[in-house]
Amino acid sequence: MSESMHIGMAGAGLSCAVIARELAERGHRITIHETRPHVAGNCHTERDAGSGVMVHVYGPHIFHTDDEEVWTLVNRYMDFKPYVNRVKATARGQVFSLPINLHTINQFFGKTFSPAEARAFIESQADTTITDPQSFEEQALRFIGRELYEAFFKGYTLKQWEVDPKRLPASILKRLPVRFNYNDNYFAHRFQGMPAEGYTVMVQRMLDHPNIVVHLGSALRPADVGQYDHVFWSGPLDAFYGHAEGRLPYRTLDFERFEGEGDVQGCAVMNYNDVEVPYTRITEHKHFAPWEEHARSVCYREFSRRCGENDIPYYPVHLTEGDQLLQAYQARAAREQGVTFVGRLGTYRYMDMDVTIRAALDAVRAFIGARAA
Ligand code: UDP
Repeated sequence: MSESMHIGMAGAGLSCAVIARELAERGHRITIHETRPHVAGNCHTERDAGSGVMVHVYGPHIFHTDDEEVWTLVNRYMDFKPYVNRVKATARGQVFSLPINLHTINQFFGKTFSPAEARAFIESQADTTITDPQSFEEQALRFIGRELYEAFFKGYTLKQWEVDPKRLPASILKRLPVRFNYNDNYFAHRFQGMPAEGYTVMVQRMLDHPNIVVHLGSALRPADVGQYDHVFWSGPLDAFYGHAEGRLPYRTLDFERFEGEGDVQGCAVMNYNDVEVPYTRITEHKHFAPWEEHARSVCYREFSRRCGENDIPYYPVHLTEGDQLLQAYQARAAREQGVTFVGRLGTYRYMDMDVTIRAALDAVRAFIGARAA
């Protein structure tokens, strides 16, 4: 392998932490600029001084994966405690179980279906004329039928994305399973858990290496790229180009924080599916750490809206009609010699944490491989 390089990075979230560590262990020097006053990006966690509750500052993050290498990697830096995400939904004056499972179906339709009966019933509700669903709405109508779609997905999705579900890609709904048994585990992955001391401590440990320097409250400017042998950019793709082609659309979130005594809602995540309720969900953070006990409780009421220039970007907005703006930026990025774009913002992808880590590992290995060649 070639001699030691000096690598610059924009952002100290999961992507750059993984890449920095891989490169640092190979003897390269890493300088990371992070504009926020903390590492870990949007999975940042902080213990609330008053209640002692570990708060997911930028909204709920639950670690789940089928990728054994990724699971081994995170466990190298942090003890993961058993956690199963069981989401509830308040819709039309009742509380249901999510993801859609046999309990949801039986409760919603007032039935006592067996798995086979429920499957046949839902199939009878489904629009089987849709053979290759492209949109969120087509995917829903094909696999769960109109009634469940309108009760659980249409309103929530309008609130979350402010786009007609006909224009959203089917991939968004494919994130959620539909089950004909009573399994109410929100995720279908083999590995799931919560970091015992939070994500921020995990990321701090990844970055704790003599070859890695992190500057908080500091931005790596695109004009500084030439100072490094290579740059990994996990900031917004369009920001790297000074938004020259226009602004890539994002959704941002507002969290209305409130506290209570004891147990406020009885679960970590309660979705509010009716369109008349202005928020999408309430998260009660102590339930993300069921091994801890706290007398008081910290909750977030979560609102989604279009991301303005001074807001924090959360979700990239992909539409079925395609995205010429994104393609223009991707074409520029592909021509870039000394910069690799990584992460949710750098690649403009709606990625879970495990996918982010997998993509970071792939990116750093491709980089090392290309250098070696
Ligand atoms: N969704 C919905 N109703 C729900 C939960 C999810 O309509 O009760 C839709 C919504 O469009 C959301 C998408 O499914 O954006 C993915 O849901 P997920 O729970 O994965 O969202 P995340 O936790 O990533 O915000």
